[in-house]
Amino acid sequence: MKVVRTAAELRTDGSTGLVPTMGGFHEGHLSLFRAARAENDTVVASLFVNPAQFAPGEDLDRYPRDEERDAALAEENGVDLLFVPAAEDIYPDGFQTWVDVEELGSILEGEHRPGHFRGVATVCLKLFNLVRPDRAYFGQKDAQQVAVIKRMVRDLAVPVEIRVCPTVRDDDGLALSSRNAYLSPEEREKALALPRALAANDRSALDGLAVDYFEPADFEPRVLAAAVRVGSTRLIDNVVLEGETA
Ligand code: AMP
Repeated sequence: MKVVRTAAELRTDGSTGLVPTMGGFHEGHLSLFRAARAENDTVVASLFVNPAQFAPGEDLDRYPRDEERDAALAEENGVDLLFVPAAEDIYPDGFQTWVDVEELGSILEGEHRPGHFRGVATVCLKLFNLVRPDRAYFGQKDAQQVAVIKRMVRDLAVPVEIRVCPTVRDDDGLALSSRNAYLSPEEREKALALPRALAANDRSALDGLAVDYFEPADFEPRVLAAAVRVGSTRLIDNVVLEGETA
């Protein structure tokens, strides 16, 4: 595996799969790498903690960063190129062009994190333009992100196939997330209410936690989606309600 920091070094052979990430790798990320490995000649993973998708006061500064560990995990799981761009290359001086998926980007997460999906859609389009993948891989864990990216790809005729992989959970049911690293053991115990409430479709299981939302969302597939805050950590999760299992 090669670590590359500039777009000029991003030479790929044959079909290419891209896995956009912000690092702090766990089995959820690794499952995407393996899915990309199975379907493409070249696998590119990007590692970029995208400032544009964090609002002031969010966890940009404390977001887990360990490039060496991430690089080893990426290599072991079939990544050929780990693309670690500099912020100045993603957002050059004078940057002023944004992708705003207006409606899908403003409900649920978008309501609680204004500007979040504008940052997500813009960085993904930029990464698609730099890497030119045939396929890009996303996790169902972030169901609204998938909906936003698919909408952008259709609306702007972006030549990439979006592939979605199932949510990977710990044995206790908690969806894997880089942000789980923030949880104390007591908070982690409290956080288990989130997957339980979703699995039982029972909002009352979240009593005592700060709930941002707990509601069905008409994505494809339809999901029950929720966001809660446990201490200073914000967690999101969802379960598929009907249709294909994702
Ligand atoms: P992140 O590094 O958190 O931006 O996530 C990178 C990709 O991994 C996104 O497409 C996420 O949806 C996906 N992902 C994160 N957590 C999980 C999980 N527990 N299961 C499956 N995919 C995940």
